[in-house]
Amino acid sequence: MGHVVVNPLAADAVLRHAILQAGARLGDFARSLMYENIGKDADTITTQDIGRTAKEGDTFALTILDDLNTPSCSCGNIADLCSYTPGRAALQAAKKLANQGKYDTKPGDVTEIWLRKAIAASHPLAVKVLHDATYPLALQILQLATGIGWTSSSSWAGLH
Ligand SMILES: [Zn+2]
Repeated sequence: MGHVVVNPLAADAVLRHAILQAGARLGDFARSLMYENIGKDADTITTQDIGRTAKEGDTFALTILDDLNTPSCSCGNIADLCSYTPGRAALQAAKKLANQGKYDTKPGDVTEIWLRKAIAASHPLAVKVLHDATYPLALQILQLATGIGWTSSSSWAGLH
């Protein structure tokens, strides 16, 4: 269940960015694992290619994901539930945000305990991590609810 892509818009944006960057960063692309796998025709890149090569540590793929701040999963998917929600992913995201220097937190200070306390204290970095981790799940639940015909005026009345 966790390996379901929950943010397809993010995955599509990564794909478009990868195709553009393959041309813009031709040298990086030509030295990449992705290039080895698919050849020079960047238009044939798929989200699976990006996820798989990122999993294998390909710098080009990892840079593409990093540019758009989109997580990948150890299963090779991009923007799937597991890439957003596990504690390890949240911790990685928090360290990454701390590294960007936009918050008053040093990356070395970010630990699981710090993150837990920071969420409880509504620290801006922790709130951002919490939002980013839960938004795709909330979107998936909303899509499921819409798919089964649930509306804002629906209720449980009459189901007894
Ligand atoms: Zn996964």
